[in-house]
Amino acid sequence: MLTKDYKFLEVEKKWQNEWINGKYEKIFKFDNTDTKSKIYVIDTPPPFTSGKLHMGHVLNFIWIDIIARYKRMKGFNVLCPQGWDTQGLPTELKVEQKYKIKKEEREKFRNLCIEWTKEFIANMKSQMTMIGYVPDWSKEYKTMDPDYWKAVQYSLIKFFEKGMIYKAKHPVHFCPSCGTAIAKAEIEYTTRETTLNYIKFFLDEKNFIVIATTRPELIQECVAVFVNPNDERYKNLIGKFVNVPLTERKVKIIADEDVDMNFGTGVVMVCSFGDEHDVKWIYKYNLDIIKGIDESGRLTEACGIYKGMKVEEARKRIIEDLKNKNFIIKQEKIMQNVGIHERCKKPIEFILTDQWFIKVIDFKEKILKESENIKWIPDYMKKRYVDWVKNMDWDWVISRQRVFGTPLPFYYCENCKKIIPAEISELPIDPALNEKRCPYCNNLLTPARDVCDCWVDSSITPLIISKWMEDEEYFKKTYPSSLRPQGHEIIRTWAFYTIFRCLILTEKIPFQKSLVNGMVFGPDGRKMSKSLGNVVEPNEIVEKYGADAIRQWACTFVPGSDTALIMKDIDYGKRFLTKLWNAARFIEMCLNNETPENLDFENLTVIDKWILAKCDEMIEKTDEALENFNFNIMKELQDFVWHDVCDNYIEIVKYRIYENIKKKEAQFTLYILLKNLTKLLAPFIPHITEEIYQNFKFESRSVHSKGNFPEPIGIDKIYLNAATVINVIEEIRKFKGNNKIKLSEEISNVKIYVKKDIEKSFINECIEDIKKSVKVKNVEILEGEFKVECER
Ligand SMILES: [Zn+2]
Ligand SMILES: [Zn+2]
Repeated sequence: MLTKDYKFLEVEKKWQNEWINGKYEKIFKFDNTDTKSKIYVIDTPPPFTSGKLHMGHVLNFIWIDIIARYKRMKGFNVLCPQGWDTQGLPTELKVEQKYKIKKEEREKFRNLCIEWTKEFIANMKSQMTMIGYVPDWSKEYKTMDPDYWKAVQYSLIKFFEKGMIYKAKHPVHFCPSCGTAIAKAEIEYTTRETTLNYIKFFLDEKNFIVIATTRPELIQECVAVFVNPNDERYKNLIGKFVNVPLTERKVKIIADEDVDMNFGTGVVMVCSFGDEHDVKWIYKYNLDIIKGIDESGRLTEACGIYKGMKVEEARKRIIEDLKNKNFIIKQEKIMQNVGIHERCKKPIEFILTDQWFIKVIDFKEKILKESENIKWIPDYMKKRYVDWVKNMDWDWVISRQRVFGTPLPFYYCENCKKIIPAEISELPIDPALNEKRCPYCNNLLTPARDVCDCWVDSSITPLIISKWMEDEEYFKKTYPSSLRPQGHEIIRTWAFYTIFRCLILTEKIPFQKSLVNGMVFGPDGRKMSKSLGNVVEPNEIVEKYGADAIRQWACTFVPGSDTALIMKDIDYGKRFLTKLWNAARFIEMCLNNETPENLDFENLTVIDKWILAKCDEMIEKTDEALENFNFNIMKELQDFVWHDVCDNYIEIVKYRIYENIKKKEAQFTLYILLKNLTKLLAPFIPHITEEIYQNFKFESRSVHSKGNFPEPIGIDKIYLNAATVINVIEEIRKFKGNNKIKLSEEISNVKIYVKKDIEKSFINECIEDIKKSVKVKNVEILEGEFKVECER
C-alpha cells in the first residue's frame, strides 16, 4: 500500500541503500561477463576533492545519472565509474594553513594531504548519493592512489620514448604567491586600473625618446627598445642605442611590425620577461636575458639596490626615483587587462625557470584532424575547442614546484645532459626518494623533484577506466568511451589534454561524444560566491525538496547554457511528485489489490485507447530526446501526467469504476498506463518511480533493471484524434466555471459542432463519457466548425 503522503526523504534513502549496498546493487555494476549486450562507457568527470559539491556538480551528475539509467534500461551494459581528482594546489594551501607545515617536509606534508582528502571524499560521496547518483562504485579511482600514479608515470615514460618530453630553462607563467609554474589554461584575466608612466630614455646628453609603461619596475631587466618600422616618428632612430634609466646599460632600438604604434608613444621596452610579446621578441632577436624577478616574486641581484623588494614595493620605489631624477614626463590612469592565477587570484609573472614540458605545438594538425569526428553537444562547443587548439602557441609546462602531485618519473644527468626515465618495474616512484646512477657515466643522477600539473593526472581517465595496459580484452571493449560529460569552462584543459594525450598513446580519440553542461548561477542570476551571499548548498535543497524534485530542475537546462537556480522550478518538481503519487494512489484504490486480467486492447474504449496512444507517443518522444540529450523532454512528461492523465483520463473514468461500467477495461488501462509511466519516468525521477513500481509488483525486479525501458504498445495513432473529446469536456468545465455552476451539478444540454468525420465518430462513441464525467443531460452533435454550446 502506498502511504497517504509521499515521504520523500525516507523513500529516497531506502532506495539509495538498495541500489548501492542492497539487493539491487548488481544492476549498477558493469558486467564484464556479459558478451551479448552493447557496451556504453561514460567517462565521468572526477571532481576536485574540495570537500563539497556545488550546484554545477549536481547538475552534471544528475545528467550523467539520467543517461546511465536510460542506457541501461535500453539494454546496454553500462560502465559508469567515478573517480576523484585529488592532488593539487588548493589542498596544499589549506593543509599548509591548518598544520603550519612547509612543503619542504615532503613526506609528512603529502600524508597530511592524503588524510585530509579522504575525509573530503566521504562527504562528497554522500552528496552524490543524496541526489540519486549511482555510479559503479566498485570502479572508483583516486588520482593520489599508487595505481593511478603508476599509470600516469607510465604514460609519461611513453611520451618520453616518443621524444615528446623535454626539460628547459624557459620563461613560464609563474604564480609567486603559490610558488609554482602554472599552465596558460590556469590564467584568468581581469581588468584593473593602473598607471601608465611616460619615461624618458636618453639617446645622448640632450635628446630622448619617451616610453609609456605600466610596469616601470621591469626597467631593470629592459634588454631592448622596439618601434614599428612604419612609424615615421622613429624611422631615423632604428639601430641606435638608448640609456636605460636608473641603470648603466645601453640597449638597442629595434624595429618590428608587431609593435602597436597607437599604444602609448609607439615605443616599447622589452624586458625579460614582462609578457608573451617580450618572450617572442627576445627569442626572435636573440636578446640577452636578465632574470629580474625570482620565484618568490622579489627582485633579484640583477636589479641592484632594488634587490629583495616585492614587485609592488619595487614599483613604488622606482617611480619615486624616476621622478626625483626627472625621468617621468607624465602619468595617466588607464584600465588594463592583467593575468591572475585562477586558484588564488594573485597576479602572475613570467619567470625564467627550469621546467619540464610536453611537446604539443608540433601535434596541433594531427590533433585537429583526428578529433574532427568527436560529436559535441551542443554543436557550437566544437568551435571553442578548435579555436583553442589553433591558437595554442606554447608547449605544455607539466611540472609544478609542489608536493601533493604525481612525481615526474625522471632523472637528469648533469654530466651527459640527458633525461633518464625511471624503470617501468619501479613504478610508482618518487625519484626524490630514490637515488639512482647514470647508465652511461655512472654519475649520481639529479632526481626530478617536481610533481605533475593535475591535468596530467586527469587527462588519462578514459585509459584508467578502460584498464589500458592492464587488461587488453577489457580495454578493447571499453575504449574509446561513448560519452564524456563535462563543463564548458574546462574544454581548453580537461577536454583538450585528454584528447591529446590519449590520441598520442593509443592512436585513437578517447571519446565519441562530449556532452557539455553550463554553469549554475545564483537565484540573483550572478555567479555564486561567498562574498555575494548567493550560494545555494545542495544539501539544503535536497532536504527541503528531495532529490527527485532537484532532478526535474536539472532537466530544465539546455546543454551548454548557463542558467540561474530558480527555486520555484524546484518547487514545481516537488508538486509534480505529489500529483504523480496521488494518481498512483487512486489507481491502487481502483485496482483494489488485484492485478487486472489481461485484456485484448481491441476491447478498450476510445478514451482508453486515446490515453494509451498518447503514452506510446511519449515513449517514442522520450526515447528520441534522451538519445539526443534533450533533458527538457521532462517538461512534456510533466504536462502529460498532470493534464492528460490526472486532469482528464482519471476524471473521465471515475464513473466507470464507481458505477461498474466497462470497469475491467478502465482498470486494465490504468494498470498498463501506470506501469509504462513509471518506467518512462524512472531515469528522471528514480526514487518515486521505484517506490510505485515495487508497490504494484509490476514485475519482480527493480524498475531500473537492464532492458526495462518501455516499448510502445502499438495502439493505432488514429486514436490521438480522440483529443477532441477532451476538448469538449474542457469546454463544458470552462462553461460551468464561468457561470459558477458546480461541477457536480447537471446541465441540460450541450451542442457540439464538429467537422471531421473521425472526430465526429469518436465523440459519438464517447457520449456516455461526456455525460457522466461532466454531468450533462443531453448531448447533440452537429455539423460545423468546432464549437461547444452549453445550456444550463
Ligand atoms: Zn597562485
Ligand atoms: Zn651520465
